[in-house]
Amino acid sequence: MDYLFRLPGGRSFPVRSLGNLPVELVAMLAGVKPATHCSFRETENAYVDRLCRAFALKRVELAPGPDSAPGWREVMLGRGIAPARAAARVWSREAENPGVALGYPACCVRRYVAWIKDKGPDGAAHCDIVRRIRRFSPPRGPWPFLLNNVFYGYSRRTADQERHRRLEKANPGLDLAALNLVPWHSCSYRCPRSLAKARAIWSAMRRLVPEHAARLAACLSKPVVFWDWDRFAVLEGVAKGSSVRYRGLRPPVSELARGDARLLGSGDLVRASAEELAVFAGSRRLGKLSGRPLLLPFGPAA
Ligand SMILES: [Zn+2]
Repeated sequence: MDYLFRLPGGRSFPVRSLGNLPVELVAMLAGVKPATHCSFRETENAYVDRLCRAFALKRVELAPGPDSAPGWREVMLGRGIAPARAAARVWSREAENPGVALGYPACCVRRYVAWIKDKGPDGAAHCDIVRRIRRFSPPRGPWPFLLNNVFYGYSRRTADQERHRRLEKANPGLDLAALNLVPWHSCSYRCPRSLAKARAIWSAMRRLVPEHAARLAACLSKPVVFWDWDRFAVLEGVAKGSSVRYRGLRPPVSELARGDARLLGSGDLVRASAEELAVFAGSRRLGKLSGRPLLLPFGPAA
């Protein structure tokens, strides 16, 4: 999928969906990221050179890592050769997370690293990062959608490719790889440092790629019932206190347990309590959702 970026003088440039590149590039052009990592097939090499010329970026080649697929290249793109080299140096150091060198707030990088290092039930192997961030966020919304990372799989995804394929197949025509605004995981859904950077990216997104900005606002600004990265329901509605009145579910979609799909399909209100998420139709309680779902009250940008 191509993202048509508007350039000065009425020109435009199609940015290919090389992973999260369209979003990362907006964050660079907004001045938030000094550099970004990018991997692509050898056949895309000439295209990446054209992209660098169009946006005045510099590239630094990275040595292939142990997980690099044959025929793929990895580069660090920078808003100058110095930031590209600096980020490339940190990227290649195993012991150090490159987040701060890539422009992410230190508070968010610290909490992300703590999640990765946690070998217990709340660590990366057992607990999705959205649950972890939720714990440090005010329980009541709405939370500004600018930090919604529910669909942002990078630095978080499991190795189970089959689960990824199923999620992508359930959402034809929707590029889940670019369905985020900040290309990192914030330490809370109201982190002031992340929000300040997110606002700068949002302003650049609306100016440079207004079509994608509209898509992001539509997909990210809705409350979500969340079980896991590939099991969630986006509610077409508005969060108020600890409940959401909704008209139905909207994309992106995921595979839900049959009972949960039926409950959500018959109801128009989800209410969260300490014990459960219950679904209502009008004032009638229909039942509770299975497992340990969370209600994530994403809403408007402000
Ligand atoms: Zn933070």
